[in-house]
Amino acid sequence: MRTRRLPIAVCAALVAVASHAAVRADRDCAAVASLAVAGTTITAADAVPNGTGSGDVLPAYCRVRGVTNERVGVGGVPFGIGFELRLPDEWNRRFFFQGGGGTDGIVFEPLGNVQGFGASGADGSALSRGFAVVATDSGHQGFGQEFGLDPQARIEFGHAALETVTRVAKEIIARYYRRPTKRSYLIGCSNGGRQGMVASQRYPKLFDGLVVADPVFDLSNIVIAQLWDAIAFSAIAPTDGGGKPILAQAFSDGDLAVITAAVLDACDDADGLADGLVDAPSACRFDPAVLACPAAKTATCLSTAQVAALVRIFGGPRDSAGASLYADWPWDGGVGSTGWRGWKLGTSQTATSNAFNVVIGFSAMRYLLLTPPDPGFDPLAFDFDTDPARTIDGATILNAVSTDVTTFRKRRGKILFYTGMSDPAVSANAVIAYYERLASAYGGLAKTRRFARLFLVPGMNHCAGGPALDRFDPLTAIVAWVEKGRAPRKLTATGNAFPGRSRPLCPYPQETRYRGTGSIEDAESFRCLDPSR
Ligand code: CA
Repeated sequence: MRTRRLPIAVCAALVAVASHAAVRADRDCAAVASLAVAGTTITAADAVPNGTGSGDVLPAYCRVRGVTNERVGVGGVPFGIGFELRLPDEWNRRFFFQGGGGTDGIVFEPLGNVQGFGASGADGSALSRGFAVVATDSGHQGFGQEFGLDPQARIEFGHAALETVTRVAKEIIARYYRRPTKRSYLIGCSNGGRQGMVASQRYPKLFDGLVVADPVFDLSNIVIAQLWDAIAFSAIAPTDGGGKPILAQAFSDGDLAVITAAVLDACDDADGLADGLVDAPSACRFDPAVLACPAAKTATCLSTAQVAALVRIFGGPRDSAGASLYADWPWDGGVGSTGWRGWKLGTSQTATSNAFNVVIGFSAMRYLLLTPPDPGFDPLAFDFDTDPARTIDGATILNAVSTDVTTFRKRRGKILFYTGMSDPAVSANAVIAYYERLASAYGGLAKTRRFARLFLVPGMNHCAGGPALDRFDPLTAIVAWVEKGRAPRKLTATGNAFPGRSRPLCPYPQETRYRGTGSIEDAESFRCLDPSR
């Protein structure tokens, strides 16, 4: 990757040298610190030379740090929306909002990672490509969720900080470069994906292109699902000396491997190729009952209680009448992988679980969803008949479930969704269901594909990881779609799980199929087809 990137960086450096005097005469980074922007304190503005950056070859840029909407909230807690904006010397007239993660609370380095976080793609990050990039903590500081005790902080995290920071950033951009932004993009995964959907629904004029990955767009229902899973696994988990369940021990790593092998056995070759990737989810039929031990539990099968727990969890949370409160989950080759364990089971060998479902989900229910917040609430005692109603006010602020994106669509905005088929935090079926609802609202799949496309990533966990080809470049794809009208017919993916392999990811409802000839490691040997035709 570096060898492919280097020539670009060298070219950028030469251009920068050639126009250095003009750039510097026209743009004074330090002067940004004294710009008067309403409601905003610019705390630092520093010129950063090219080549300085973590894990990427970065151009020279002006680094602006600031905070807006400073105030004192509930309980005397100080709040403010922190942000960092990076303004490259050689600007491509585009703005990039880097979506957050978890419940934010920290200003991550605004590199403009093309897949939400952790990956900058073969052609580099958005910053290295000349985008002005902003990142924000969404209005509160620190990883805890106690900020939910403050109603305004909920609103800023839920949606308002996205609009505020984008407006402030665009104002600084316009004054620094003395020209406005031509095109605006947002890429985010998880909470960043939710922010993208927020943008399409609540703030449809802010962005031209959105890449929405593994979005926690129905956050309240996801948290209900996290509680559902924790309760189901706790019920079958071995207990410590005090009788408390050790969640991580509900399934051993060996048990998870048994599940993965059985899913692959049932579904891998439904696409015509047993290659470790379930490329035909539409044809995947799996019944975990086949895993049940005929007698005593052994290493190659599951106990009756484990099978029942799997059925319960993969069916998704339901009320006592059987009505779904979220979604069911697809069977896929990444089920049971390390990332899956991290969310659903954790690794703690004590009754103090470190599963993300528990660490994040329990706190989210207490502080962000229950209204008023209820810090003493016991999530393991959640009543799936009566307690969902207590989350409705929180959901109104936090969820992004509306299919009314008419304004965004009329402005010719484009949305590229992608999501991991083995994401243990966001059910791919929930994302598919949203996309189908969107299609129903806009005249069917064919018409909806003109402005919104969904790519399913076999084996991928939450945002990345799993036995998957989880590296691709949605930024190039969304820019070409927005600016050249070239809708992405496929995304070419690679990944560390399968060294040397590439595959097309296909826009839903199309699936990837082997052509029958050519190397099975080469994307060119595969095509996209609609299995219903
Ligand atoms: Ca396959």
